[in-house]
Amino acid sequence: MNEINFSRRDALRLSGAALGSVTLTSGIASAAWDPLNPPPGSTQQNTLFKSLPLFRLGEPLAADEMRVSFMGTSPLERKTQMTTSVFVELGCGDSFVFDAGMGCQVNYTAMQVPASKMRKVFLTHLHGDHTSDLTYMYCFGPQRDAKSPMYLWGPSKSYVRNPWYKHPQFPQYDEEPEYFDDGMRAFASTFREMNRWHSESQSFVGTRWGAAEGDGYDVVATELNWATGAREGQWSDNLILRDAVFPWRSDEPWVAYHDPLNSVKISYFQAVHDRNGSISYKLEWNGLSMIFSGDTRPNMFMVNALTGSKMPVDLLIHEFVLPPEVWAAAANGGQAGQAAITTALAVQENSHTPEKGLGWILNQAQRAGKAPRLALATHFQASDDTIRPALDAVRSWYQGPFSIVTDLAVINVSSKRILQRRAVVSDYSPLPPTVDPRLGSGTFVPKYNDPRSTSPYYPYGPLEQLSPFLLDQVIQPCLYDPTSFSCQNPYAAYNPPPNPPGVTSMLRRR
Ligand SMILES: [Zn+2]
Repeated sequence: MNEINFSRRDALRLSGAALGSVTLTSGIASAAWDPLNPPPGSTQQNTLFKSLPLFRLGEPLAADEMRVSFMGTSPLERKTQMTTSVFVELGCGDSFVFDAGMGCQVNYTAMQVPASKMRKVFLTHLHGDHTSDLTYMYCFGPQRDAKSPMYLWGPSKSYVRNPWYKHPQFPQYDEEPEYFDDGMRAFASTFREMNRWHSESQSFVGTRWGAAEGDGYDVVATELNWATGAREGQWSDNLILRDAVFPWRSDEPWVAYHDPLNSVKISYFQAVHDRNGSISYKLEWNGLSMIFSGDTRPNMFMVNALTGSKMPVDLLIHEFVLPPEVWAAAANGGQAGQAAITTALAVQENSHTPEKGLGWILNQAQRAGKAPRLALATHFQASDDTIRPALDAVRSWYQGPFSIVTDLAVINVSSKRILQRRAVVSDYSPLPPTVDPRLGSGTFVPKYNDPRSTSPYYPYGPLEQLSPFLLDQVIQPCLYDPTSFSCQNPYAAYNPPPNPPGVTSMLRRR
């Protein structure tokens, strides 16, 4: 591993904190690179990550191994790091997504993870930087090989009283409830409806495998009581799945998922982050274990999970954040005044783990003889200027195996070894191939289909959701390409919706 010899002062300078603001002399942004005044952050790199050995896509996973890939590792968006998502694959063939922050789908695709491997999603909390790419995964999964329901797990509602409830100063919010239904089931049902236009519009192709338990646009959400550990219940738009008892369903307290066939167990415990309801997860399989903190302040639930573990945890993935003055600069174009620093201090107080806080937790685990085999920090803008001081801060409490990850870090864990590598991917990746074995039995007839077997698109119904007055305005393909398939095979909609109310005339202007 390369040593990085930066002082904190160098680090701040390199990060752009002391460079001053970027000035545009002409008022028009120039594409030219000015070495004396580069864009904020452009001089940074991550030497630690570059020093890791390479992981090449397609490497098979040994039957007794767990592989953890980091698909998003930053709290604030940047080109090199998407927001939080951790992908866990097990040698038994199962795979799990933990959080799905903005941009992570790009990394899943670059890593050639098929959509069908991303159907079990565990959410630590419902912040946008941990949930926003769910929309994309959900919307486009069924267009790929994710033609089975999306299963979600997440916390129950917060029971934080709405301070504006019937407040005389805020009559405009009089319809708000005393307690918001801000838990997983309400999230899932509104999420499903929010994506209604999308899911219907794309259901002109098959979205359900012949042998699947439901449609790719079905959502099944299990709500986990963050306070008592009870399984609150499940919700699905599919009434059969709503009441179904799944093979991995568990009524044991604090257990989110238990698959006795593959001996996979995912339990959870409280985190302390922003508002009641955040949780951390622990996955156990084949004598191996992984804890993912999600977002949290340093807390004793975590210390107890580590020290109370029968065997030391193999992999601890814990969040930490930049020091407030560096965070403030990172959140303010590279430099920050006192107001931004106070905001960053409040964010840390409300939400996150300081570098030394994680060091202290690891120290507690070590003193109990339960230091993790490897601890990894995530949720951190990782570059040379931030990594060095963060390592120093953790090292002031803890000397055991510890590192800081960034996107595309890949960790193989077996009883014999833990291997840290970085994936080599293309900036121009194709979508991953279809791997779901249910492909063999084909798909059900699309929801919007054309039953005429003479149709050139049979059984797809490509024009079943467009009213005549719109179709009337489509430029006929033969006008611009007489050799095209659609000119050679003229197609008329089978059962389009009528013109909507208020549209009386059929305009014909070709
Ligand atoms: Zn958060």
